Amino acid sequence: MDRETYRTRAEAFLTELTREHYRHFAGLQADLPLEAVYAGYGDLFTREAVEELRTAAGGETRGDEARRRRYLLEFAVEGFLGQATRDVEAELARREASLQIHVDGMAIGYREAAVAQATEADRQRRGALEDARNAAVADSLGPLYREAIETQHALARDLGWPSYRAMIEDVAALDLAALGRQTEGFLAATEAAYPSTMEPELRRVTGAGLADLRRADVPWFLRDAGADAAFPAERLVPSLRATLGGLGIDLDAQPNVVLDVDPRPTKSPRAFCAPVRVPDEVYLVLPPVGGVDDYVVLFHEAGHTEHYGNVDPALPFEYRCLGDNSVTEAFAFLFDHLIEDPGWLAAHLDAHDGAGRLAHARAQRLLYLRRYSAKLAYELELHAAPSLDRMADAYARRLGDALHIEWPRETFLADVDPGFYVAKYLRAWALETHMRAHLRERFGPAWWAEPEAGAALRALWAQGQRLDADELLGELTGASLDFGAMAGDLGI
Ligand SMILES: [Zn+2]
Repeated sequence: MDRETYRTRAEAFLTELTREHYRHFAGLQADLPLEAVYAGYGDLFTREAVEELRTAAGGETRGDEARRRRYLLEFAVEGFLGQATRDVEAELARREASLQIHVDGMAIGYREAAVAQATEADRQRRGALEDARNAAVADSLGPLYREAIETQHALARDLGWPSYRAMIEDVAALDLAALGRQTEGFLAATEAAYPSTMEPELRRVTGAGLADLRRADVPWFLRDAGADAAFPAERLVPSLRATLGGLGIDLDAQPNVVLDVDPRPTKSPRAFCAPVRVPDEVYLVLPPVGGVDDYVVLFHEAGHTEHYGNVDPALPFEYRCLGDNSVTEAFAFLFDHLIEDPGWLAAHLDAHDGAGRLAHARAQRLLYLRRYSAKLAYELELHAAPSLDRMADAYARRLGDALHIEWPRETFLADVDPGFYVAKYLRAWALETHMRAHLRERFGPAWWAEPEAGAALRALWAQGQRLDADELLGELTGASLDFGAMAGDLGI
């Protein structure tokens, strides 16, 4: 297939796929016919297509044409692996949806149990839910996770790369070893301050300190339900509208951005962004429930929405729809970070305990960053390993050491994001920290109330994901991504 045809078909595929996701998770249609979408575009994800694009990417190493070829190659490789693991993924989804676990003599759905655990105030019961879920993962789901990962590893070698890790580094142009050194540095730099940052917040929310905390308590801690009263449902959308207004963006005057707030019985309980056609048709979907978590998720998804909705329509497909997702995640983090900014809280939500919220948000971020740093180290090991045996020990050790919590081994394959997405999140957090510092310096601490800051953001959004996270930061400030900045940002 010639490249122009490939581009056109790839964009049509993404549009159909994203539209099905949107319609299903917005509660507009019961089924999610992914098989049918993939069936119509099988030619995009054949081995021949991958090899053609790989040859083309190898033949051009400089400039925009080289970037575009690499982004297409990454898309094709992801699709090729996705095709090969689609049956096992579908079986995993079916099993997850039907699996029942038993806690205190009562049956509860496996997926439902995760939600129940995060909203369960009783520690004992959280522990019991976690034990039952871990046992179900090990017995019922584990073999399928293993099959999916072993298939990905085998295909990467089959395509001629030495390992899955080497393949991702190549097609995503990521230096994962260098990133691993940065995150090891971050773990070392924050090691001493970790307990003292976490203890007061852990005790306030869970009643337990690090010494007797279990992983079962972590979702409840992150949830911080006690803060919900200060984040009412009726301020959720108005606060977003007002924030965008402060940046000079009129949410209701963006004809290509659809805010879907209608209640529907089968609508997803979490907000999401569906960029069906970039930038012409972007949905921001939410069930307006309220609570701190809903604010964070809505603003995160609004960051994605404004990014996609403001992309220059004249850009080629690769820059509008593909590229380094660290970039769109960084814009999403930039927006969700407002929910911990005491100035923003004072301006948009009345009677707010800004200092309390900030303390919790810091502890939460430190925990996330250390968890993802440890996960990166583990996944680097996992995806270059000749066999998955003994990886459960490496997983429990790395996560346990980073978080100072005894970490269960059972989820060692369930807790793995495809395609080293863990690295994209880590780079996105770093880019967000740099961008936020830059915006504060240029436009003041209340940068989010300055139309000029909005104009600067729009100029960045217009570029889509043509530049990767390093290049974008280089162009913006001349700096390079530095994880030391994140420790500094946390006051460590
Ligand atoms: Zn996101």
